[in-house]
Amino acid sequence: MTGRKRSLSGIRVTGRFHLGNYLGAGVNYVRLQDEYESYIFVADYHTLTTKPNARDFTDDLYDMVMDLIAIGVDPQRTVIYRQSMIPMVSELTLLLAMVTPLSWVQRVPTFKEVARVQPDNVNLGLFEYPVLQCADIIIVKGDVVPVGRDQAPHLELSREITRRFNRTYRPVFPEPQIVLNPEAPIVKGTDGKAKMSKSLKNIVGVTDPPEVIRQQVMSMVTDVKRPRKTDPGHPRSCNVCAFYKFFFDDWEHYWELCRKAQIGCQDKKKLLAERIIERFAPFRERRASLTREEVDRILESGAERAYALAQQTMVEVRDAVGLPPYSRP
Ligand code: ATP
Ligand code: MG
Repeated sequence: MTGRKRSLSGIRVTGRFHLGNYLGAGVNYVRLQDEYESYIFVADYHTLTTKPNARDFTDDLYDMVMDLIAIGVDPQRTVIYRQSMIPMVSELTLLLAMVTPLSWVQRVPTFKEVARVQPDNVNLGLFEYPVLQCADIIIVKGDVVPVGRDQAPHLELSREITRRFNRTYRPVFPEPQIVLNPEAPIVKGTDGKAKMSKSLKNIVGVTDPPEVIRQQVMSMVTDVKRPRKTDPGHPRSCNVCAFYKFFFDDWEHYWELCRKAQIGCQDKKKLLAERIIERFAPFRERRASLTREEVDRILESGAERAYALAQQTMVEVRDAVGLPPYSRP
C-alpha cells in the first residue's frame, strides 16, 4: 500500500492489441504508472460475454499480456492480473445490481450494438457488463480509469452506480474519474466506418510482424470521394490521413500534398505502414524477449496483490450492506 491514488483499467481478450487500444488508452496506461498505484486486468469474464469458453482464448490471453508489457506497462509498477482470479468481483457485481435501476443499463448503447452483431447470443452477461465493469473499478477503489472515448458512457454509468451505492449505504468508494487521451478520437477501423475493434477484425496491430501491419494498412478504406489519383483528396474525411496526425510531425504537409493530388492513397498507405512499423519496432523487440513462463509469474503475483486488496474491500462492502463477514466465528 503506497498511499498514492489508484488507476485501474481492463482489456478484453478478443484479439491483438491495436492502434485504437494504444492511442485511446495504452499511452495513458504507461503515463499514469509513475504517479498512480496502477492496476490493469485482462478481462476474461468480460470476454465470456462473446466467447463462452475461456480455453478458446488462452493464446490470446498470453498475447495480450505480452502486448501490454511490450508497449511499456511495467509489471514492477503496474499490477497486471487476470480478472477471474478475483472472483469477489462477481459478488460485488451482484450487490451493485441491487442498487442499479434497470433503466440505467437499458440505455447503454454498446448492448444494442453487440446484440446486432451476435443476435443468436444476446445473453444476460452482456446486458450486465457495465455493472461488472463498475465492480472491476471500485473493487480496487480506483480513483482514475484510463480508457478510450468509446468507454465514456460506461464510465459515466459506473460513476452513477458508485454514487448510488455510497448514498444507499455509506461512502465506501471514491467516484472514479475517466482519463482520456486528449489527442485521440474514437479511432476508426480499416473499414473507415466502425470503430477499430478487436472483435470486428478491422484492426491495425501495434506489435504484429511488419508484414501483418503492411497488409492491414494497405487494406484500409481511404478517401471515398477521390476516385482517381489525379483528383484532389479530402484529408479531413480520409481515415488514412487521420492517422498521419499521430505518426508524422509534418502531417499538414502530407495533407496539403493530398489536397493538391500530389500523393495518391496507395502511396500514403505505404508511407504510413512503414512509419508505424518503425515507430513500434522497440515494442516488437521487447515482446520478442518475453516468455509464457514470465507471463505466468507476472499474472500470479498480480493476482495475489489484487486479491488481497479486493478481499479488504469486500469486508467493508459486506459490512456496509449489513451482511455478515465471510469467515465463521
Ligand atoms: P472488443 O471488440 O472485444 O470490445 P476493443 O478493441 O473494443 O475489443 P477493449 O478491450 O474493449 O478493446 O478496450 C480496451 C481499451 O481500448 C478500452 O480502454 C477502450 O476504450 C480502448 N479502445 C478500444 N477501441 C478503441 C478505439 N477504436 N478508439 C479508442 N479507444 C479504443
Ligand atoms: Mg470494446
